[in-house]
Amino acid sequence: MNPKLQELKNLLLEINDLEAAAGVLSWDQMTCMPPGGTAARGRQLATLKQISHEKFTRLTIGKLLDELRPYAESLPEDSDEAALIRLTARDYEKALKVPASFTAEFSNHTATTYDAWLKARESCDYKVVEPYLEKTLELSRRLAEFFPGYERIADPLIDFADEGMKASTISGIFNQLREELVPLVRAVTSQPEADDSCLHLNYSEMKQLQFGQEIITRMGYDLERGRQDKSPHPFTINFSIGDVRITTRVKENNLTEALFSSIHEAGHALYEQGINPDYEGTPLAGGTSAGIHESQSRLWENLVGRSLCFWQYFYPKLQVVFPEQLNSVSLDAYYRAINKVQKSLIRTDADEVTYNLHVMLRFDFEMDLLEGRLAVKDLPEAWAERFRNDLGLTPPDANRGVLQDMHWFSGTIGGAFQCYTLGNIMSAQFMEAAKKAHPAIEAEIAAGNFKTLHNWLKQNIYQYGRKYTTVELITRATGEPINIKPYIRYLRTKYSGLYNL
Ligand code: ZN
Repeated sequence: MNPKLQELKNLLLEINDLEAAAGVLSWDQMTCMPPGGTAARGRQLATLKQISHEKFTRLTIGKLLDELRPYAESLPEDSDEAALIRLTARDYEKALKVPASFTAEFSNHTATTYDAWLKARESCDYKVVEPYLEKTLELSRRLAEFFPGYERIADPLIDFADEGMKASTISGIFNQLREELVPLVRAVTSQPEADDSCLHLNYSEMKQLQFGQEIITRMGYDLERGRQDKSPHPFTINFSIGDVRITTRVKENNLTEALFSSIHEAGHALYEQGINPDYEGTPLAGGTSAGIHESQSRLWENLVGRSLCFWQYFYPKLQVVFPEQLNSVSLDAYYRAINKVQKSLIRTDADEVTYNLHVMLRFDFEMDLLEGRLAVKDLPEAWAERFRNDLGLTPPDANRGVLQDMHWFSGTIGGAFQCYTLGNIMSAQFMEAAKKAHPAIEAEIAAGNFKTLHNWLKQNIYQYGRKYTTVELITRATGEPINIKPYIRYLRTKYSGLYNL
């Protein structure tokens, strides 16, 4: 190997190890740390993050990257080494543009804002957090200003999560999708509501967790290189390609909570477990963007986990685990229950059809706030009005309105929400391409066999880690850039069947 590249990789490995150590501390904080550890843990994490940031932004790395540029250019376009050099150079330039003093100011501010948000939720009072959100908006704009030359101010913030995507592209995609979704939501919700009472009986926590584990291991989640724990908010985290962990939460009166959050997080984890092992310890060993990551969790959660063929295999097994609750419920009734569509107030509880409307309104508010068309103080009123228009509901209080998601209270305004809908759109594109290549996938799923699908995803997506950008990856895998047609086809077919449209 080129000695300079070896030197760069050695430095990157140290940074990777510091980040992984910080990851273990975060995982511990969110799964099993006693509350008394909070203050010290915050400090410990800040210390590690600071050391890692300093190590990454030092001149040695910049110098090595400069020296390696001609070497990268001499390599074939598709080479892993060239990709590593290009990607590291992009990360490096981004890291250099944001002064350390700003990063410290921002992380202090988000820590206090998050606390204020918890208090605001206790008293259900937006006013508690309003001044903090004003400051968040100002800091989000300042962060974007470190990346001049943007078309719209949200672009740099979007780029952090979904590199290469721009507000104008996303708006274009969302507007097309909205035109298709609004009539579909209207058609479905004008039909009689599905009965999902069977999902809200009493289901033992232990049995739910065991059943979930059976599903995710069958999907291909490798417990030799992962584990599942409980946490208030489910998440996936990796410390190396050989250690990718997930969490779930269980509600005894809601069968779907642990089940679908486990499948969702396992979808993220399959991605991380499937990255080329040669990328270990380098910036290539991660998901390519938030949107692609969500496309993988949602593909498994919704296109696989909420499909009829999936439950043809698993429902009889679920009935054996919960005979009292489910023996009198047919597969068809169960399938309708887990795919119930209803206009609802909370994004994370929303079904597949209405979900994206929740995301789009948040995305639009981010644009309006950043571009000065909406003032922070007017947000709750704007929220209520948009909700009435889009979903025909008025949030009865702030907790079920503007205070429901932590995103704006623990990060920037801008770039926080688009990944969910981009993920939904791309999940259908990937699934369509996989089925086109292997028409037997559906029949295999109905027999509890996920190998062909899993292998297709590994070959076309997982193995590449961050080697390709979102646009490159989806074009290589499906032959097309991001496009809503497969997703609309999927929703129309599925929900016309379910709701006799
Ligand atoms: Zn997710």
